[in-house]
Amino acid sequence: MENPTQPPPYVMPEDEYNAILKSLMERRATVPCSRCGGNRFELQPTYTTLPLVPDFRMASSYGGHIPCAIIICNGCGNINFHSLGALGLLQAHENPASEQAN
Ligand SMILES: [Zn+2]
Repeated sequence: MENPTQPPPYVMPEDEYNAILKSLMERRATVPCSRCGGNRFELQPTYTTLPLVPDFRMASSYGGHIPCAIIICNGCGNINFHSLGALGLLQAHENPASEQAN
């Protein structure tokens, strides 16, 4: 049985969660839902990746991927993916020393 005082391993650290929210706000990614017009969204506390494939038949065996944050509309369940690279959040993880120097 899991230790109830430890978060599940698939939950991102709180500072990363807050960095995603901050980046989305800075980029004005806050307009109402494109499907239902609702304005209540939830950032999922996990990451996902989108596979990059030159041919759809290779979807499960090709290596490239885009790391993403997941936003879900609370009204209709519309799911949006935001590239962590485009949000400027990959550089800090790949080279934390340069982040501290700035
Ligand atoms: Zn919606």
